Amino acid sequence: MIKFLDLQKINGQYAEELKKAAAEVIDSGWYLLGEQVKQFESSLEVFQEGGNAVAVANGLDALRLIFKAYIELGLMKQGDEVIVPANTYIASVLAITDNGLIPVLVEPDLSSYNLDLNLIENKITAKTKAIMVVHLYGRVCWGSELVALAEKHNLKIIEDNAQAIGARFNGVRTGNLGDAAGFSFYPGKNLGALGDAGAVVTKDVELAETVRTLANYGSSQKYVNRYQGLNSRMDEIQAAFLNVKLRYLEAETQGRRAIAAYYIANIKNSKIILPSLDEVDGHVWHVFVIRCNKRDELQAYLQEHGIQTLIHYPIPLYKQECYSYMSAISLAITEQIHAQVLSLPISAVIDTDEILKVVAVLNAFNG
Ligand SMILES: *Cc1c(COP(=O)(O)O)cnc(C)c1O
Repeated sequence: MIKFLDLQKINGQYAEELKKAAAEVIDSGWYLLGEQVKQFESSLEVFQEGGNAVAVANGLDALRLIFKAYIELGLMKQGDEVIVPANTYIASVLAITDNGLIPVLVEPDLSSYNLDLNLIENKITAKTKAIMVVHLYGRVCWGSELVALAEKHNLKIIEDNAQAIGARFNGVRTGNLGDAAGFSFYPGKNLGALGDAGAVVTKDVELAETVRTLANYGSSQKYVNRYQGLNSRMDEIQAAFLNVKLRYLEAETQGRRAIAAYYIANIKNSKIILPSLDEVDGHVWHVFVIRCNKRDELQAYLQEHGIQTLIHYPIPLYKQECYSYMSAISLAITEQIHAQVLSLPISAVIDTDEILKVVAVLNAFNG
């Protein structure tokens, strides 16, 4: 079976270094708010080529904390609106609703799967305070028209960079394009910890410090609590693992790009729609998403031929039980994407034989 993502093999590449890093943390007797986290934050700032990094417990918290900090700083309040793509992982929207803010869902562009920047302005009201862009599947969602719109309406741009660490737009890293960004280091992400971890990156020093305080019970001085905060800190042991893995991220991204280029050049089947190539340089291919009218049939066929695939994502967030109050929403492009997408195996540890097999099996599909 060709696994969709073989985490054992991925982390196996670095097993010795990871074990050494874990042993250092165990032996140090210091497990939170220590040197590993400090080092990871500064390495992430170097990788990002700017910004202030705050390590937190996971990617959802990173996004939640950004909004919570804006609320504490008086820049947003409950009932304000945030524009967000309808085609995203639900965590993007959970971060908004968790803070009592209202998500305003916008359709994606069918060729990029990302927020359609042309549809934003119509959705802006007197209550709109921010636009959240999601660099979905590892592809950059950005444009000068977005920046102009945010300036014109005095909106913050928040990036959900959970899937796109390492991508660039005109040379600038995603996560440094907007006002603040949330990163996820969930094990399956391009930079994966061996457990949960996340980060906020922002150029805004005051916002960074507010996030840091909020993530530590709302306290920056022990037993003095300025805000009603959370406990959302990155473990030292996860930071130690990330300090190892960050060094290999660029090489892994190049590996993903080579596989994506191979798939695009060699998958030739009129029943399958490949990702479009625009701005492909900035893409980090967190997942390689194809589309097919007979998606479920294609997935079963690939499974029969020993190829595991996943669907990102099967159910639109506004059709989920937890958002039953949104159930009247109907968005044709988002729903088409949810019905047709399929993600192929792509990672640094897939070997050439496996890639050749995926291509050959796909090219033979005539469902
Ligand atoms: C993974 C992910 C998140 C949440 O990150 P966690 O670390 O799993 O909490 C948020 N947004 C998107 C788009 C994601 O893919």
